[in-house]
Amino acid sequence: MIKIFGYVRESTMQQAMFGYNIEEQKRVIEDYCKYHYSDYKLEVFEERGKSARSLNRPELKSLLETVKKAKADKVVFHSLDRLTRDIKDLYMLIEFFDKNKIELVSVMESLDLSTAIGRSHVFNSGVYAQLESERTSERTIRALKQAVLEGKYPFSTPPIGYERVDKRLVPTQDKEQLDLVQYIFSSVASNEYTLEDLQHEIRIRFGKKVSDNRLRKILKEKLYIGTMEYRGIVVENFCEGIVDPVIFNRASKNHAFRKQSKKNLVYVFKNIVRCTNCDVPMVQTSGTGYKNKRYTYYMCPVCGRRASQEKMIEKKNAQLQKITNLYFQDEEGYSEKKKEISHLRKRQRKLIEEQKKHELDEDIFYELYINLDDEINLLQKGIDGIKKNNKLFENLSPVFQKDIVHKYIQNVEIRFNNRTYGINIIQKDM
Ligand SMILES: [Zn+2]
Repeated sequence: MIKIFGYVRESTMQQAMFGYNIEEQKRVIEDYCKYHYSDYKLEVFEERGKSARSLNRPELKSLLETVKKAKADKVVFHSLDRLTRDIKDLYMLIEFFDKNKIELVSVMESLDLSTAIGRSHVFNSGVYAQLESERTSERTIRALKQAVLEGKYPFSTPPIGYERVDKRLVPTQDKEQLDLVQYIFSSVASNEYTLEDLQHEIRIRFGKKVSDNRLRKILKEKLYIGTMEYRGIVVENFCEGIVDPVIFNRASKNHAFRKQSKKNLVYVFKNIVRCTNCDVPMVQTSGTGYKNKRYTYYMCPVCGRRASQEKMIEKKNAQLQKITNLYFQDEEGYSEKKKEISHLRKRQRKLIEEQKKHELDEDIFYELYINLDDEINLLQKGIDGIKKNNKLFENLSPVFQKDIVHKYIQNVEIRFNNRTYGINIIQKDM
């Protein structure tokens, strides 16, 4: 007998606004099983009111635990967007099922994600591009804004320290949570702690691990002083504040706890990097290294190997410098000047021939020839100036680098070997 597990999900908002509810999804999964197998046992996990943005969903978690323990044969779900909308999360899930030798099937897209072909199809077909673009539709955003204006908190997980009661946000009854939030703010406001110190203190006092990101998110959360902000909408006195506004402001001025946001990371080779081993586009990803320095990577969603942007620039510096020179030369009319010079030289040669055939008066010949010489020299000076102005690719801002790269480069191909990788930059035909 085949052991099959199903997973269905609806987020409250989505279910009301767009198609598939849980029953419909279940029916699709049951039909699939009936059609393909005669002897099977199906158990379906139902997730309600959760979004696909994060993997932090109770039913999904218990599905993962159960299938592992039960040594399931298959996990079937309705469509990819029920499982996750994040390509990196999907990659992680696929890896998990692979490791546990469980087949993963998406009925609507008729994909068997346990096969290389199925996977490569997902990552190549644009299915994901579509999911990403649908992340939050205009319609959903409008509905959420409306709810916020009406004083309702339309999101499923309120910030720590709050609870949702009748769709409104109220301070939690859990005194320890309140203490924790207030402790964080007053510690940061006091300027006496580093981030690591504070995390350590929180572990000791509250027995909780709070990640860097979480801490920063808490410190930015204006709901703690009663103000709700959502996509440009600001509602004061939205809820009861639980942090003193003076302390809140002092804490938010503590630079040690600020950090450059994700937005500051620039993917210089965005959307043009391919893994040639798997023949799929690589995805942008980031990581945090020593001293919280943030790194940008390109990761192959199929084989999972990554290449850091910094390394890539270092390895291909010579070629990148060449296109940088091209870029600045084009900007200041380098190639037009070159063309003009060769045109003028041609005219000089013609003059010499005419002179040889005694068709030109000698004085006129010299006059014309020297005029052309002067024009050429002027142009040449311009060209020399441009060459002197060449800028180093590595010193340009990432945004500038990205512009240059996308103007001249068609594709960046990465081929992974055992321990390292080779890069081949294919320039556009221009
Ligand atoms: Zn690959």
